Amino acid sequence: MMDVAVIGAGISGLSVAWHLSEKGFHVQVFEKEETPGGNIQTLKKDGYILELGPQTVLADKKVEEFLKNAGIEPEYASEKAKIRYIYKKGRLIPLPMSPLAFFRSPLLSFGAKLRVLKEPLVPPSVKSEESIGEFVRRRLGGEFLDYVVAPFVSGVYAGDPEELSVKYAVRRVYELEQKFGSLIKGAIKLKALGPGGRLISFKGGNHNLIEHISSKLNVEKDNVVLRVRRKEDRFIIDTKRGKHETRSVVITAPATSAGYLLRDISWSASEEFDKVYYAPVVVVHVVVDRGSVPPGFGFLVPRVEGRRVLGVLFSSQLFEGRSSKNKELLTLYLGGAKDPEVIDYQEDMLYSIVDKEIREMLGIQKLEFLNLTRWKRAIPQYTLGYGKYLELAQTIEKENPGLFLAGNYLHGVSVADCIRASYQVAEKVERYLTAS
Ligand SMILES: Cc1cc2nc3c(=O)[nH]c(=O)nc-3n(C[C@H](O)[C@H](O)[C@H](O)COP(=O)(O)OP(=O)(O)OC[C@H]3O[C@@H](n4cnc5c(N)ncnc54)[C@H](O)[C@@H]3O)c2cc1C
Repeated sequence: MMDVAVIGAGISGLSVAWHLSEKGFHVQVFEKEETPGGNIQTLKKDGYILELGPQTVLADKKVEEFLKNAGIEPEYASEKAKIRYIYKKGRLIPLPMSPLAFFRSPLLSFGAKLRVLKEPLVPPSVKSEESIGEFVRRRLGGEFLDYVVAPFVSGVYAGDPEELSVKYAVRRVYELEQKFGSLIKGAIKLKALGPGGRLISFKGGNHNLIEHISSKLNVEKDNVVLRVRRKEDRFIIDTKRGKHETRSVVITAPATSAGYLLRDISWSASEEFDKVYYAPVVVVHVVVDRGSVPPGFGFLVPRVEGRRVLGVLFSSQLFEGRSSKNKELLTLYLGGAKDPEVIDYQEDMLYSIVDKEIREMLGIQKLEFLNLTRWKRAIPQYTLGYGKYLELAQTIEKENPGLFLAGNYLHGVSVADCIRASYQVAEKVERYLTAS
């Protein structure tokens, strides 16, 4: 009998499985698709390397430690990636990276800059939970929300700042106010506002990470799990290809699938997890002549600019070898929680939106379309009241010793969040297996 059945071979499932198999447990991973990786998918097409899901991973010490132990070398993003732009009224404005640059930058009006300076005087909120929109307007003003925070919320979550909870979606920022009474004071004390780390990918694309870890594990591909049941102190995993008995289970499938799998064990899980909203995203890869875009990571488009493209990454500038020498590979994102209908548009319609907006925003005349990917349920939205899902996950684990839940709807949406969480999840599983 196996010690651990891990459901889902996305980065959450694979990293948990890797820790546990390193510790000598008998681990089996079940993946419904032919290709593991979940959101992490790389496509090689016409000599280009396209990331269909995540482009980069922001690797801190923990993530680097994981990669080192797993024996895979990261590829670091080029220095150019440090320059990020915001599109405003017909031009790309570099995102200021220091207080001096912020005050010199044309990104915000003089009034908006003064409003930011007053942030340390704004008292903490008395409300138990606020949206990111409410929080930022209160502390830093509306223009800062529109031109700095909202574009980043769309860059990370493809989300709507008026719907996302500051407490659950950007916990670090929420805690700065709780601990220091001010984001600026907190950032000065901690010498940082955002998460630290270096941007990485892998030679040949992010899927190399998946292939590398999968090759060290027992991954049963194309074998969907249909149900998880309890049988005394064991679990029965019903799959497309038969039944398995296991001492413990880690479900890393997205919320809806996790709820469905748990229907025999927890009715509330199957009802509630189905309500977690995942914003849809359309990813378009285009090729332009080299030199058509400035050096940098790419740019984000504030919603108030009235465009449908959420952001554009200058993919071939981030990592070597992603395009031919005289061409530039760009990755564009559309859709998200504020423009979800885009997901159902015909291909022609999507291409014509992209064509028009890229010509207008970048002044590029020649654009070649390479690929289009639709993610109907791309990124889970940590909306107001999201705590109820996290509490439900804890309750299910408590009431069902040996059953564990993980994945980007519980521990953070970035690849780095999933890897960091895998340490704690694997420790919990190990504790259970050694005690039982
Ligand atoms: C378009 C896009 C761009 C992104 N960009 C970035 C980025 O630049 N940087 C970043 O850090 N993050 C980014 N993310 C987020 C990040 O990729 C994801 O949060 C992360 O990869 C999720 O990993 P996961 O393992 O938790 O879930 P998933 O990747 O969803 O994996 C879950 C796995 O479970 C499998 N599964 C589901 N049901 C079953 C079942 N019943 N039986 C067996 N298997 C099942 C699925 O097939 C899947 O393989 C992006 C996401 C998207 C969609």
